[in-house]
Amino acid sequence: MAGRVMLELKSVERHFVQGSKRLSILSGTDFSLHRGEMVALVAPSGAGKSTLLHLAGLLERPDAGEVVLDGRACGRLSDDERTAIRRNDIGFVYQFHHLLPEFTAVENIMMPQLIRGLKHAEAEARAMQLLDYMRISKRAQHRPSELSGGEQQRVAIARAVANAPLVLLADEPTGNLDPVTAGYVFEAMEALVRQSGLAALIATHNHALAERMDRRVTLQDGLVAAL
Ligand code: ADP
Ligand code: MG
Repeated sequence: MAGRVMLELKSVERHFVQGSKRLSILSGTDFSLHRGEMVALVAPSGAGKSTLLHLAGLLERPDAGEVVLDGRACGRLSDDERTAIRRNDIGFVYQFHHLLPEFTAVENIMMPQLIRGLKHAEAEARAMQLLDYMRISKRAQHRPSELSGGEQQRVAIARAVANAPLVLLADEPTGNLDPVTAGYVFEAMEALVRQSGLAALIATHNHALAERMDRRVTLQDGLVAAL
């Protein structure tokens, strides 16, 4: 893969204590995600996919090792600095959409841009462009509860990329959808990733979708391994 490394995990460890047991979910793993590539993270439930994505997305800190985003080591940064990177450089999509229920689709996509300091008109134009790209501009003025599951996820994906992040992290983004809808949503996400050239790491149980990505990795004994 020729593109430059956008996300790098270096000897990352994450352990949890459950009762008297110490679980090593990540035990010193390395992983690199390059510009322009889409990588599937395929592993059974409980293997540590969400844990890895949360660390990569700076939502949590590793117990040891380093997360490097576009050459910048994030471990020693303050919470405020990490929040700024999360807002500007990382897009995160969850299995459940996590859209704000009292706001419309277009407003949900505008929100991260407004927080970043963009003017209302600029944010709205970008949000409408993304809705159009996801082929749901007709739903712009609808609230999340008025959207289908597939539409909700498309809005969530549009919101995740609204600030043109460097890296898109998605945690089973189609896990809650029927296979046909999952295919459509994935297609829209793929088009967006390909067009913007960002780097994407997508946890999925769907092998058909995993096959469409550039490469597949799994978690084995706390380490990322090629599939
Ligand atoms: P996956 O996303 O692959 O299903 P997770 O990353 O959610 O897996 O979880 C991996 C393991 O770590 C599971 O056994 C889970 O119970 C455990 N785990 C995750 N988060 C915590 C936590 N905050 N405290 C204790 N155990 C946790
Ligand atoms: Mg998970």
